[in-house]
Amino acid sequence: MATKKKQTIEIIALACSECKRRNYTTTKNRKTQQEKLELSKYCKWDRKHTLHKETKVK
Ligand SMILES: [Zn+2]
Repeated sequence: MATKKKQTIEIIALACSECKRRNYTTTKNRKTQQEKLELSKYCKWDRKHTLHKETKVK
C-alpha cells in the first residue's frame, strides 16, 4: 500500500519580473505562507536587483 504524504513544504521558483527568467528556487511552507512570495533578488541577466515573484516548479 502506498503511503501518501501531505505536502506542506512546496518547492517554488522565483522568476524575475523584468525578464521572466527563473533565477532562484526555494521552498515555502504552505501552512505558514499562504500569500505569494515577492523578493528583491539579483538578476544576472538584468545585472541588477529586480523583483522576483513566486512561480510553480514542475
Ligand atoms: Zn531579470
